[in-house]
Amino acid sequence: MFKKILIANRGEIACRVAATARRMGIQSVAVYSDADAHARHVTFCDEAIAIGPAAASESYLNIDRVIAAAKQSGAEAIHPGYGFLSENEAFAAACEKAGLVFIGPPASAIRAMGSKSAAKSLMEKAQVPLVPGYHGDNQDPVFLQGQADQIGYPVLLKATAGGGGKGMRIVTRSEDFADALSSCQREAKNSFGDERVLVEKYLTRPRHIEIQIFADTQGNCVSLFERDCSVQRRHQKVLEEAPAPGMSEERRQAMSAAAVAAAKAVAYVGAGTVEFIANQDGSFYFMEMNTRLQVEHPVTEMITGTDLVEWQLRVAAGERLPQLQHELTITGHAIEARIYAENPEKGFLPSTGRLDYLHMPQAVQFTQGAVRIDAGVTQGDVISPFYDPMIAKLIVHGKDRAEALARMAQALAAFQVVGPATNVAFLGRLIASEPFAAADLDTGLIERHHDSLFPQPQTLPLAVLALAAVSLVRSATSATGEPWAQLSGWRMNSTYQRSFAFSSEAGVQTIQLSYRRDALWLEAGDLQVPLKDISVSQAAVQVRMDGLQLQGHVVRQQDTFHVFHAGHHWQILWRDPIAHAGEGEADEGRLTAPMPGKIIALLVSAGERVARGAPLLIMEAMKMEHTINAPSDGTVSELLYAVGDQVDEGAQLLSLSVGEA
Ligand code: ADP
Ligand code: ADP
Ligand code: MG
Repeated sequence: MFKKILIANRGEIACRVAATARRMGIQSVAVYSDADAHARHVTFCDEAIAIGPAAASESYLNIDRVIAAAKQSGAEAIHPGYGFLSENEAFAAACEKAGLVFIGPPASAIRAMGSKSAAKSLMEKAQVPLVPGYHGDNQDPVFLQGQADQIGYPVLLKATAGGGGKGMRIVTRSEDFADALSSCQREAKNSFGDERVLVEKYLTRPRHIEIQIFADTQGNCVSLFERDCSVQRRHQKVLEEAPAPGMSEERRQAMSAAAVAAAKAVAYVGAGTVEFIANQDGSFYFMEMNTRLQVEHPVTEMITGTDLVEWQLRVAAGERLPQLQHELTITGHAIEARIYAENPEKGFLPSTGRLDYLHMPQAVQFTQGAVRIDAGVTQGDVISPFYDPMIAKLIVHGKDRAEALARMAQALAAFQVVGPATNVAFLGRLIASEPFAAADLDTGLIERHHDSLFPQPQTLPLAVLALAAVSLVRSATSATGEPWAQLSGWRMNSTYQRSFAFSSEAGVQTIQLSYRRDALWLEAGDLQVPLKDISVSQAAVQVRMDGLQLQGHVVRQQDTFHVFHAGHHWQILWRDPIAHAGEGEADEGRLTAPMPGKIIALLVSAGERVARGAPLLIMEAMKMEHTINAPSDGTVSELLYAVGDQVDEGAQLLSLSVGEA
């Protein structure tokens, strides 16, 4: 076995490969771009070598630099992960030339499967069923349109060099063919440097079912069964599961046999996936072969109890497959959800930014089943525009599909991200949706159920308003458990009230908090409920509302509150009346306290020039801090109170001469 390997990738897959290497006593070497100097995979591996600028073409895709890093580190083999150089024939050949083992198939197999057209010709010979279509060399537009007319519409145009759901066009009428073809060719040329296309019958309501195969150098090739990856957006997988719901043993064997035949036709070695498109009646056709480890390989690992990276390492080191076909069985059901930094409401457009707050569910191994998280990021990391916006993969296993689903729903509910937009909430709705729960799967599921998957914004439940308001009660737990008992800024013997206006997509909602002798009361409309046993510890907020124990997490970013409660992420904007108190008074240059409280910090001094919005002083009222900002540009003419002073409602705090100095 190897003593040291280099991992030519980043993110979750680099960490995942390193974890297996560590378990097997193999040293791992990371490579990283300038953008990834502090990335998780860099610290996770035993060594790390910088290979260039952020742009992938100058780092992770730069064959010479990756090979040089491997030589420098003394690694004996390179694991390419997925994406980047994993299906690059020249890279596999360069490894060999440099005396390094490429942990993947022979370069010849990558070449054979690299073009979707050439692969189809090969499969035709191996008698693997193909979608009706044209995959030949003739690229004459008139000829191709003639082929499409013969196949019958709708047809799908695909870049033969394509991948990642790119370079595809559905054409529904002959008249649209020419335009679709040129646009497809343009995208193919831009994305893959090869404008050739193939034409296929476009199946309606198909399922994407793929077979994981594994071959060794001793002539063994097994099927590790199927994965159903039908739930997609933009022809890209969102949820994957194994086994495929409704799969019969007979069909599984037929698909496995076709996949193994495909692998044998190209003298395959290592991990590979043969993707099929299947009709609802179960008939299936070869689509393409991915000559690498797949993103969704963990669902297969979970149902077969294998570690496919370990298999890859053993096969690459010349060992026999750890298990042969008769030793492989399926146990339970596994589902993977890809957590992406993207905006489902905006057509699933990728989103970027810092992961300001990241709380992932706990990984657990149950006697039957598990929750697994494959992540390449930690809180504070940035999802940059340079690479794939996947944040993590959440994988669950249960004794059956229903249990796996329930576990997934629970785990998703505990996945909290503040920073870039994510698909977490969307995944939660998808998992809970009627068609997914009923396993009524096909590649159009998301589009067809768009309306129910994207419901109208809901008004904020009282619990959410209560959690947001309570989170403003700073370091609330006192010895008596009555946070407000020690409060200096309010009058012990009178009722003290404060309004909060929260706005969300559903509009503005106002509540009052009032401090009475016995409790903090929340009032909303006609409703009045006591809030007791308040505890705020960092993001975690607990409160007993009218006898109901509420728990949630509240993450505040300026005036935006992210409330995580009952599996939902609510984004609400707080319009702080104190912060905005001066706005109406700008002309007079006076700033008054809208309620009694204590001055806890002065941020400016007399005579200082301030710009509109500049923080002037911090006031504490009802155990909550508020910054008072300059309502306009001006000069501070006088400060009327000192730190520690109590001020009454309406008291002028400072004066500001408005305008140019
Ligand atoms: P898979 O076929 O393994 O499920 P996808 O179809 O989702 O993968 O992705 C297609 C391609 O997109 C992958 O082959 C890979 O080239 C690229 N890709 C996806 N995720 C990443 C990532 N995190 N880093 C780099 N490339 C990625
Ligand atoms: P990629 O290389 O981008 O993964 P694939 O050929 O694997 O491209 O196709 C990606 C997805 O596009 C499939 O999972 C499926 O949802 C859809 N698709 C591909 N071919 C067809 C077809 N002939 N009819 C209907 N949908 C298809
Ligand atoms: Mg594919």
